[in-house]
Amino acid sequence: MQTAELNALTGKKCKSCGFEATDPVVSCTSCGSEDVEPKTFSGKGKVYTYTVVHVGFGHLASRAPYVLAVIELEEGAKTMGLIEGEYQGKPITESVAIDMPVQFLRTEEKTGFIFKSA
Ligand SMILES: [Zn+2]
Repeated sequence: MQTAELNALTGKKCKSCGFEATDPVVSCTSCGSEDVEPKTFSGKGKVYTYTVVHVGFGHLASRAPYVLAVIELEEGAKTMGLIEGEYQGKPITESVAIDMPVQFLRTEEKTGFIFKSA
């Protein structure tokens, strides 16, 4: 993976039915077609659901507590990611909320997509 790609929220768009999803996607999860094309998402979205992880596992152990969330992107696709930073002046682990606006930050090789409050 190129460095430039780590700073873009990439995914695929199905040429068969138009369904869009973030990586990793090899076939369309909506209709099953493998005729998908690369797509870069805006990175803007909101928290669909989340959990605050107090005891991480593996390489994430030293990171706990952290927020693991399902993000609904403005394009309509959903993706999993970690949310970093603060929201309304409080640590994100204390202030994260459903529908909180978020912005994609970067991709970490082992962890996946990282977001922050927007
Ligand atoms: Zn499809």
